[in-house]
Amino acid sequence: MNKNDLSFFRCLSCKSDLSLKVFEINEGDKDNVKEGVLFCPSCKILYPISESIALLLDVDYCKHFDTRKFFQKWSKEFDFDKYKPLRKETSSEKFKQLDFYNEDSKSYDDLVSYSNFWKASDWNILQEWSAGLPKDGVILDVGCGTGRCAVPLVKGGKRVIATDLSIGMLRKAVAKSAEAGVNNITYFLADAESLPLKPDLFSAIISFGLLHHVNNPVTIIKSTEKLLKAGGIFCALENNASPLRPIFEMLMKIWKLWNEEAGSHPVFKLKEMKAFIENSGMSPKIRTSTFLPPHLCNLMSYNMARKMLFLTDWIFNRIPVVSNFGGQLVVRAVKTKKIPRA
Ligand SMILES: [Zn+2]
Repeated sequence: MNKNDLSFFRCLSCKSDLSLKVFEINEGDKDNVKEGVLFCPSCKILYPISESIALLLDVDYCKHFDTRKFFQKWSKEFDFDKYKPLRKETSSEKFKQLDFYNEDSKSYDDLVSYSNFWKASDWNILQEWSAGLPKDGVILDVGCGTGRCAVPLVKGGKRVIATDLSIGMLRKAVAKSAEAGVNNITYFLADAESLPLKPDLFSAIISFGLLHHVNNPVTIIKSTEKLLKAGGIFCALENNASPLRPIFEMLMKIWKLWNEEAGSHPVFKLKEMKAFIENSGMSPKIRTSTFLPPHLCNLMSYNMARKMLFLTDWIFNRIPVVSNFGGQLVVRAVKTKKIPRA
């Protein structure tokens, strides 16, 4: 966790500002906290920071983190008797999601991030988004996985805070960031439906294929609007309910490319997504992408897949009706006005 990002966070329980106690910094970087604790002086809740990841989640969800061992290890540095970890209601649905993503994190990069289709698609989408992102300010990457967007964005000069529900994914993201020589990304474990962040601070928020995984996409879109500054940008990539989708589903039955754990909306209609975003106080522009089956792209070289994706997007987006047939929705929305808060 980057020390300078502390001011973005607040207590999940009482919404007060959090304080930080550092136990250990990352070698060669005085701002990067490797081990420490975030704590709320008001309600006495604590949130561990371990392996550079801040754990801002109900302690019962932190299944793959040994809280007791953490307390023992740092007992001389912090009075753990005065503070307690967060314990709220938990849901079996969320445990199911957590188990899936922690398991999925083991093969995720090989199956998804490093496949020629996704490498080409990531390039295609990120170069478009990057060009339209504000130059200053901080970007929040919600559902960051193994850092697929966060790392390239920071390499391109952006400042990013990134979160995921899976500690397995975040551990990979931290390792990949270090490999890429990018060590100023704050990664934190949290539930996208209940983020420990203060409103009106982010210049952009990215949701790269997150919304089809969750059970309340509208809750997340609304929370996005609250977290953005006025004029802030919301970028999302989602599955499109294209009339060609059955072909893709059939191909996936014959040749499964990746594991899927869908939420309440496995796919979104373009109009439906537009309405969700507009009703949340943002003004969206949505296009579709990916008119070729990913299976075909994976048979090509990376460079060929990239050229074909770019070219087919360019051509088909210019043909009426057909322009809605791409497999993915590429969303760019602006927080238009400040909605008075109750
Ligand atoms: Zn508190």
